[in-house]
Amino acid sequence: MEKRDYYEVLGIAKTAEASEIKKSYRKLAMKYHPDKNPDDKEAEKKFKEASEAYEVLSDPEKRSKYDKFGHAGLEGAFGGGGFDWGNFSHFSDIDDIFGGEGLGGIFEHLFGGSMGRSRGGSRRNKGEDLQLSLSLTLEEIAKGVKKKLKINVKDSCESCQGSGSEDGKTQTCTQCHGSGQVMQTTRSLFGHMQTVVRCPTCNGEGKLIDKKCKVCHGEGRINKLKPIEVDIPAGVAEGQYIRLRGKGNKGRNGGENGDILVHIKEKEHAEFDREESNLRINFPITISQAVLGCEIKVPTLSGKVKMKVPAGTQSGKIFRVRGQGLPYLNSGYNGDLFVHIIVMIPTKISGREKELYTELAEIDKEKNYEPKKSFFNKFKHLFNLI
Ligand SMILES: [Zn+2]
Ligand SMILES: [Zn+2]
Repeated sequence: MEKRDYYEVLGIAKTAEASEIKKSYRKLAMKYHPDKNPDDKEAEKKFKEASEAYEVLSDPEKRSKYDKFGHAGLEGAFGGGGFDWGNFSHFSDIDDIFGGEGLGGIFEHLFGGSMGRSRGGSRRNKGEDLQLSLSLTLEEIAKGVKKKLKINVKDSCESCQGSGSEDGKTQTCTQCHGSGQVMQTTRSLFGHMQTVVRCPTCNGEGKLIDKKCKVCHGEGRINKLKPIEVDIPAGVAEGQYIRLRGKGNKGRNGGENGDILVHIKEKEHAEFDREESNLRINFPITISQAVLGCEIKVPTLSGKVKMKVPAGTQSGKIFRVRGQGLPYLNSGYNGDLFVHIIVMIPTKISGREKELYTELAEIDKEKNYEPKKSFFNKFKHLFNLI
């Protein structure tokens, strides 16, 4: 099969900037996600093809070789058999902020949980990731916010300096010879794979301890309440998460620390409904205001704005206030605010009002509204606006 052009694979121009390349790859990776396309060899191929294109075009050196010499310029760049998942080096820089179907999960899946050779040795003993969720108001989401929290994290035991041994004496594990890992053959989506798993004899510690430290019971780490700061960018949405790299549990056997995943939740707002980056609000007006027109003060997330309601406004009419929605994540652009006008029909009226309505009713006798399709068609678009 003829190898496709990398720019064509990602659907971008030859002049595309790094951010466009990343955006396009993310989109394709989500589309051809193995979990979304189970047992679909074609999707799997497309996913790999896009990853290869991304690997090359996101690397300025490889990209320039490719621009000059095409596929021939990269011969040998990925070893004899061409591009393979082991050549993919972008696991960490693409899942920082991502929806519930983050890419991290896909790659864990591809590598049978061990992340194989790409993540390097210390990754195998990585401490556990911790999860927490953070409820934010729309006001906080609109501006972005820094949150200070305290979280229970496993950190080095000071009593045994992380060794887990009371007297400092340890023995090297005989099964794994101190590495904390053993090889295991597993079946995965891509056939049989050699994966590295935690040594069952020493539980990944690489050593055996005679006298366990009384404070940490031999684990070398203990729970500590640690303060963390989470920087939340403007425009996040429920279901997304922020990864705080290296802030999770301490790794075993010198392995790197785990991460903290902060899941975003959204508090319900008393006035606004959110639709992606747009906001919607219901605004009640009186019959006379609808008939004669009026000026209303519409609440936004940053104070009230004046808005003209023209004479003869029908109930259900929607006005758009540009730029008063929420910011799009990492873009500098804002969504809009949709003001949904509702003409309130009074249910309790005073004697004076009754007089006036009765008088009005006399005039209304002259008007005979007939049900007409064209009338409703005229307003149909209102209901499809959002
Ligand atoms: Zn062992
Ligand atoms: Zn200890």
